[in-house]
Amino acid sequence: MQFKDIVGQRDIINRLTAVVDSGRVSHAQQFVGDERDGSLQLAWAYLQYLCCEHRQHYENGELRADSCGECPNCKKIAQLMHPDLHFIFPNPPNGSTSVSSEDYMKEFRDFMLSTHALGTLNDFNDTLSGDVKTSIIRETDAANIVRVLGMKPYEGGWRMVVVWNADRMNAAAANELLKTLEEPLPQTLIILVDNYDKRLLPTIESRVQTVKMKAESEKWKDVDNPEFAGLLVGWLRMLFKLKMKELSAQVDKMAAMNREQQKLFLQYAMKVMRDCFLNTTAGVECHLGSGDEKFDSQFPKMITTNNIELIQSAFDDAIFAIERNAYAKIVMMELSFRISKALKKR
Ligand SMILES: [Zn+2]
Repeated sequence: MQFKDIVGQRDIINRLTAVVDSGRVSHAQQFVGDERDGSLQLAWAYLQYLCCEHRQHYENGELRADSCGECPNCKKIAQLMHPDLHFIFPNPPNGSTSVSSEDYMKEFRDFMLSTHALGTLNDFNDTLSGDVKTSIIRETDAANIVRVLGMKPYEGGWRMVVVWNADRMNAAAANELLKTLEEPLPQTLIILVDNYDKRLLPTIESRVQTVKMKAESEKWKDVDNPEFAGLLVGWLRMLFKLKMKELSAQVDKMAAMNREQQKLFLQYAMKVMRDCFLNTTAGVECHLGSGDEKFDSQFPKMITTNNIELIQSAFDDAIFAIERNAYAKIVMMELSFRISKALKKR
């Protein structure tokens, strides 16, 4: 997971990378947001940046830095296969007293990869069998945190634990965690990922450095433009038919906006694609607003795990090119071909 793949949150990301670069990483942090604000996604990209062997720094653009995405550490963290990165999350009882997150790690990994870490606890629970209403984080999990943080790191760098939905810790687990927070070991990092509306013990909150996500509505404040919906739907329809004359006319409309509007439109389109993807994978409602019910209900099915990354990177490249004053018509045309191709791979 790279920062460039996260929608919005640029100020927060730039602050985080500056702190990592300065070497003053706090050993206990909490990322707080509303559900689907992407706090788990941010934690993932953050740890990848922390471990990256070739961090990239940019002179211009919205991001000051990002992980390289290519080095062995980046690849292992992107695949959630890094031996020093551990996840703790609420898990249902399975009849054994020693049940812990480790027993559900395969399911959790699949869930993270398929939803790009944007799914909620309910979404995850839907993938599990067992009594999910009683999903909690138990003392077995807390003991595992102590154990893995106490081990010698395999890769010689950081030992990292992400606790997702830390408010679901039972009292014994919370007490155990508190002891770990009070006596941190060097080169260890715990990130608690939580919701605004669910609070942790004040004794725990006082020991973690908190990063607050920008709310979803806030994030899209600049992007919401009623004209964008019509423009986007008109363009998407052309991508199926690929009749050059009509597509070209549509692209002309997009290229006629000023640079700032073009960028906002592309960000808006990317958000809609992401919503469609979450609709397909997690059943989240999405509104295309085409005025055509059939299109609105059928289009989201086109965005799946097979093409979301292709789509995302096509938009990223287009935004990057627009920011660098590339010829808008060519950028939009190339984007059209790439999205059209990606849609066929669903
Ligand atoms: Zn890297």
